[in-house]
Amino acid sequence: MRALYKTGPHAGLELVDRPEPQPGPREVKIRVLTTGICGTDLHILEWDAWAASTIRAPLIPGHEFYGEVVEIGDDVRDVRVRDRVSGEGHIVCGICRNCRAGRRQLCIHTISVGVQRDGAFAEYVVIPQENVWVHEHDGATDVITPALGAIFDPFGNAVHTTLKFSVVGEDVLITGAGPIGLMAAAVARHAGARYIAITDVSAPRLAIAERMGVDLALNVATTPVVQAKERLRLKEGFDVGLEMSGHPGALPEMIRNMNHGGRIAMLGLPSAPIDIDWAIVVTHMLTLQGIYGREMFETWNAMAAMLQSSTWLHDAVSSVITDRLPATRWDEGFEAAHSGIGGKVVLDWTVF
Ligand SMILES: [Zn+2]
Ligand SMILES: [Zn+2]
Repeated sequence: MRALYKTGPHAGLELVDRPEPQPGPREVKIRVLTTGICGTDLHILEWDAWAASTIRAPLIPGHEFYGEVVEIGDDVRDVRVRDRVSGEGHIVCGICRNCRAGRRQLCIHTISVGVQRDGAFAEYVVIPQENVWVHEHDGATDVITPALGAIFDPFGNAVHTTLKFSVVGEDVLITGAGPIGLMAAAVARHAGARYIAITDVSAPRLAIAERMGVDLALNVATTPVVQAKERLRLKEGFDVGLEMSGHPGALPEMIRNMNHGGRIAMLGLPSAPIDIDWAIVVTHMLTLQGIYGREMFETWNAMAAMLQSSTWLHDAVSSVITDRLPATRWDEGFEAAHSGIGGKVVLDWTVF
């Protein structure tokens, strides 16, 4: 099969021929139709300090994908050949305290598809049956298109973060209008937020944000967040903050603009320690909550249900995909994802 391959512990990827993976008794083999390019994949391509300390090379990366089941192991139940599926990329141990309590997103031994085992930048991928998400379809048309199916993983990050605290009737500040921040805005709108402000430094991304139903898209290269409070005529401050950028300036500025008792969910991963004013956190009684991955599988259930029940949300989330390229042009796709100005990039693996 054709696969994007990290041949060893160094920068770069190569499109090469690799043997097809074979499913074990409890595993599922999927013909990959589409794969999303994630920030994680850019780190793997560039082989930075994080990649060097985390990745087992050689490796086929890729963890955001959609495809069709072609083979199942002998002990697989509930997944059938020809099912259209996405994959949860976090493989959990099943026996640690959190796993046994049903909190699998908190597993202390999580390993990741496309990071510590071969992933989906390939014509075929194998994952455990527990990690397969089967998309329902009503016969004639699939609600979940191959492109949309490829971004269930990051859409799940957006849903997990946005629904961590109730946004109904609340004023929401989202810092970072990358693909996940944009999808979070759409989810907050769908879930009943009052005002939504989103920040970024990319004009094209802020333009996409307008389609997500935000009330204010603020360029923080030129305008401080305090202006958002004024423009939306907030008397006190934001009730819910969603930090999606990892930028060292974003969280401190968010903290300064929250109402007392405000709740902040943080998905953006800072690359170094950041300085925040803990006195504000204490005296304003703020809640800071880290978010990682998706709840298994309540987030997945919420994603499927919301996309099924809201055409608006379906179209808003789909519109975050701005680039679709054949896998043979993977380098252009990585370049577009790296540019930080557009939306989500999806590769098509049906071109060989
Ligand atoms: Zn990802
Ligand atoms: Zn575990």
